[in-house]
Amino acid sequence: MTGVNEIRSAFLDYFGKNDHQIVESGPLVPRNDPTLMFANAGMNQFKNVFTGLETRDYARAATAQKVVRAGGKHNDLDNVGYTARHHTFFEMLGNFSFGDYFKERAIEHAWTLITREYGLPAEKLLVTVYSEDEDAAVLWKKIAGLTDDRIIRIPTSDNFWTMGDTGPCGPCSEIFYDHGDHVAGGPPGSPDEDGDRFIEIWNLVFMQYEQTADARLDLPRPSIDTGMGLERLAAILQGVHNNYDIDLFKAIIGASVNVTGVEAEGDALASHRVIADHLRSTAFLIADGVLPSNEGRGYVLRRIMRRGMRHAHLLGAKDPVLFKLIPTLIREMGQAYPELGRAEALITETLTLEEKRFGKTLDRGMGLLESATSDLGEGGQLDGETAFKLYDTYGFPLDLTQDALRPRGIQVDTDAFDAAMARQKAEARANWSGSGGTATDTIWFGLKEKFGATEFLGYETEKAEGVV
Ligand code: ATP
Ligand code: MG
Ligand code: MG
Ligand code: MG
Repeated sequence: MTGVNEIRSAFLDYFGKNDHQIVESGPLVPRNDPTLMFANAGMNQFKNVFTGLETRDYARAATAQKVVRAGGKHNDLDNVGYTARHHTFFEMLGNFSFGDYFKERAIEHAWTLITREYGLPAEKLLVTVYSEDEDAAVLWKKIAGLTDDRIIRIPTSDNFWTMGDTGPCGPCSEIFYDHGDHVAGGPPGSPDEDGDRFIEIWNLVFMQYEQTADARLDLPRPSIDTGMGLERLAAILQGVHNNYDIDLFKAIIGASVNVTGVEAEGDALASHRVIADHLRSTAFLIADGVLPSNEGRGYVLRRIMRRGMRHAHLLGAKDPVLFKLIPTLIREMGQAYPELGRAEALITETLTLEEKRFGKTLDRGMGLLESATSDLGEGGQLDGETAFKLYDTYGFPLDLTQDALRPRGIQVDTDAFDAAMARQKAEARANWSGSGGTATDTIWFGLKEKFGATEFLGYETEKAEGVV
């Protein structure tokens, strides 16, 4: 069996041999892109190279990039535990050409690598192309010998990549693997495409246009940006369907079974998977300088951590347990990402502290949630006041409450939740100005409103952690 570490190395070796500069992963917190919450694709660190703002002394590169998709444009948090193929943290393998080779060479590289180096059976592969990109369809026939029925033409924006409203853009072509008819799901472009039978493994983006405010121009030197999910590729190479069954996740889930004493089967399976996933995001985010807080990136991290903790609680854990999984994670991934080992003490302390804090209110909050929903069946709705109380007094982020109720088909009245939040803000403002409002107060409340509730929860959550 080929382990994740060897699969990653084989990718980088292949492109290294083909004159690509092997570049280290960029950090999860992008250095020069305030518009981006977390790195969500391999191309992020090269954005300015693609637009021409920056030049490098190489025109081809390959990376294994750390990616978190748990907020902003790509948010896969709610998919974790429900699909076979989504993580909040994953590694994206990519090769890039900055005005060097283009479509033909990119398709050749991709096809050679997956069918010859990795040895995937060609008959299980199919591709999508943008419906207007006849060149790509012709190249797939020529290079891979794919027949028309396995080149699916997609007319939607799914197969047309843009960097923003303006800037480089172009069609893309995605490679899918058919896991077989024992898995539910239809081919890309079909109504049932969100199933897990045909799994997208690699996205090739052909940046060939420049979108300006009023025209789409041909780029004189088109570029290539690709991204392949390492864990999805590993699943195929290891003969398993679900990403969570690959060697790396088996090790972490095995450790989770050990520390909780609950086997990974039945209802517990999803919890172990969520724990393993959220542990990776947590550790990698902390290693890259994010700490749990009540605003911005730190609040996304806190939400991920608390969701993981609720699953540990579901498995019966009464004391902090997640921090005990860190050594396993470092054993599996520390060689490829030495920052994990360097930050081990910080990760362990941060996680333990957060587990202790939330542990104080988690159990009681779950009790309140149970009693408030005991009469509700599928299709029911939790009132916004209770959801707000859970949030305000027990430190339950709204999405954690929603996640807890989802298996029972119960929703949260989010309008009423928002109303309760707005009322509390208004009350706080009134109390504050009652004690002699100043210009500074006005600025403070203005900021709080501008950035929204999730960004400024300091005192609410402190209160939650302090009293109970
Ligand atoms: P999907 O349609 O399955 O959600 P995507 O189209 O959003 O994937 P891209 O943005 O094209 O994904 O990212 C490039 C590659 O990264 C995908 O082809 C896939 O292999 C991998 N990938 C994307 N999202 C995830 C995720 N949440 N977890 C693991 N791998 C992912
Ligand atoms: Mg997606
Ligand atoms: Mg897709
Ligand atoms: Mg894609």
